[in-house]
Amino acid sequence: MKIYSIFKSLQGEGLTIGAPTTFIRTSGCPLRCTYCDTQQAFDKGDQMTIEEVMGKIEKLKCAHVCLTGGEPLAQKDSPKLIKKLLEKGYQVVLETNGAMPLDDLPCVENLTISMDIKCPSSGEADKMLFENIELLGPTDQLKFIISNDEDYEYAKEIIEKHSPKCEVILTPVGGKVLRALAERVLKEGLNVRVLPQLHKFIWGDEDNR
Ligand code: SF4
Repeated sequence: MKIYSIFKSLQGEGLTIGAPTTFIRTSGCPLRCTYCDTQQAFDKGDQMTIEEVMGKIEKLKCAHVCLTGGEPLAQKDSPKLIKKLLEKGYQVVLETNGAMPLDDLPCVENLTISMDIKCPSSGEADKMLFENIELLGPTDQLKFIISNDEDYEYAKEIIEKHSPKCEVILTPVGGKVLRALAERVLKEGLNVRVLPQLHKFIWGDEDNR
């Protein structure tokens, strides 16, 4: 697998927010979102075997592991790595961009799929595979990154149309529009969670490993 970095930090997003977590950041992504803060991982990285990745994970001693990118499912060996991690008893979150099929993933407890739906401000909304939403269950999460009112309206429309069975999270880009987003969700009674990106509050852009 081509890996950009493996590091320990607090989970900054989603339902395990705040938990000490080992992050495996894979290289490469087929999308080019306007607000991407991990462009450094598009091309750079080192080839590692699954055994080498597992060895590094073990040394960092976290119960939580997050496979992120880039786009992890752009690498053919990601499902194998997820299976290994689950066999070793880790709580695994797979972060995926909504443009990749989810068919090859191990369907087991302890794997949380955290799937994005890219909104219009990303410039990549037309690449989403909406049929993936059907495959998400109660332990998974569907995440919308919100930059403006158009994104909010778009997210609302998708939620109403697809009625996801998983948790739905709205996160403002880099902490912007957080208050406006929170107030709109409360006013309109949307059944979602509004979560900031915790790592941006704590470390700003310093934690972009
Ligand atoms: S999917 Fe993620 S890694 Fe890929 S371009 Fe968009 S924000 Fe960046």
